[in-house]
Amino acid sequence: MEDLLNKNVREIEVSEIRKFSEMATKYPNAISFAIGQPDFPTPDHIKSRGKLAIDENHTTYTSNAGLIEVRKAAADFLLKKYELAYNPNNEVIITSGASEALDIALRTILSEGDEVILPGPVYPGYEPLIKLCGSKSVYVDTTHTKFKLKADLLAEKITEKTRCVIIPSANPTGCTFDEEDLMSIAEVLKDKDIFIISDEIYSELMFEERHHSIATIPSVREKTIVVNGLSKSHSMTGWRIGIAFAPAYITKQMLKVHQYSTTCATTISQHAALEALTVGINDSEEMKSEYLKRRDYVVERLVAMGFDVEKPKGAFYVFPSIKRFAQKSFDFAVELLEEAQVAVVPGTAFTQYGEGYIRISFACSMEVLEEGFNRIESFLKKK
Ligand code: PLP
Repeated sequence: MEDLLNKNVREIEVSEIRKFSEMATKYPNAISFAIGQPDFPTPDHIKSRGKLAIDENHTTYTSNAGLIEVRKAAADFLLKKYELAYNPNNEVIITSGASEALDIALRTILSEGDEVILPGPVYPGYEPLIKLCGSKSVYVDTTHTKFKLKADLLAEKITEKTRCVIIPSANPTGCTFDEEDLMSIAEVLKDKDIFIISDEIYSELMFEERHHSIATIPSVREKTIVVNGLSKSHSMTGWRIGIAFAPAYITKQMLKVHQYSTTCATTISQHAALEALTVGINDSEEMKSEYLKRRDYVVERLVAMGFDVEKPKGAFYVFPSIKRFAQKSFDFAVELLEEAQVAVVPGTAFTQYGEGYIRISFACSMEVLEEGFNRIESFLKKK
C-alpha cells in the first residue's frame, strides 16, 4: 500500500538536521551548538498572560484570522518597527507559527509545475512545502556573494514558470538584506507575474542595522507576503504564533487554506501574543544584546582558529567554511561529535550549497560556548 501514498510526500527527504540530532542523542554529554531556537525563557509577563487566558476561560475558537486585538497589535508592531502598513481587518492572519504562514502562503500561490527561486544555502523548511505543491525549488548559489541573494543572479534564474521568490531570514548564514539589496531585487521583480514571500522571522534580532522589509517598496508591496512571528523575537517557539501580512486579495485566499487546516491559532497563545506585541514590544532588546556578545565571542574564536567566516548580521547562527579540511560537512560534523563531543549542523542540511560549511548556533550560554570552543580547538590541534 505504501506506494499508493502521495508521491510528493514520499519524495520529501528527512532533514539532515533530524538525522544529525538523532545521532547526537547517543552522546548525552555532548555540547550542542545545533540548537535552532532561543535559549531564553519566554518573558514572565507573557507567560502570566497565557495563564490568565486559561483561568478566564479563553479556551474556545477565535475568528479564523485570529483575535482582532492581536491582528491590530501585530499591525501596529510592524508599523512602528519597520514602517510596514497593513490593515488588521483584512491584511493580517495569525497562524500556528511562521511555519504555517509559509505553508499557507505557498499553497495559495503555487500550482503544479511552478518554480520558486530561493538562495542556497537556506533554511530547510521551504523546499518540502514547495514540493508538496507539485512545484520546483530553483536555487541561486550564494556561496560567492557572501550568502546574499543578488538581483542579477536572481534575474538569471527567472523563467516563464517562475511564480515566486523567497527572501529568507538569517538562518543559517547570518546574512541580512539592506535597503539597497532589496531595491535592486524589487527592480527585477516589479513588472513580472511573480510573488514574493519575505520571511522576516529574525527581524527583531538584527545586530547592525534595523531590519528592512521588501514590502516597504511600493512597486512590489502588492505581490508580497510578509511572514513573521513571535518564536524568535520573544522566545516563544512552543507557543506557535506566526503572522502573515499581505494585500487583501491574497489573504482572502490564504484564509481559506488556514481555515480548513487549523481553524485558528491557539487561543491561549493568541492572548499571550497580545501581551508580547504590546507591553512586550521591546522584549527582544535584552536577548539581542546577549546574542551580540556571544556573536562577537564566537567569531573571535573561529577567526583565531583559522576559520574563514562571515560575521553574522542577524539571528544566532554562524556558518564557517570547513573547506580547508577537504572533508564533507557531514563527515566533519560526525567526527567533531565523536571525538570532541560537540554537535554542530552540517552545512548540507541547508541544501547542497551548504557543502563545505557547518552551522554553529550561539543560542546557549557564554560558559557553554567557551567549553565547546575549547573542545573544538583541541580537536583541530589533533587533526
Ligand atoms: N523561518 C526561518 C528562517 C526559521 O529559522 C524558522 C525556525 O527555525 C521558521 C521560519 C519557523 O518558525 P516557527 O517556529 O515560528 O514556525
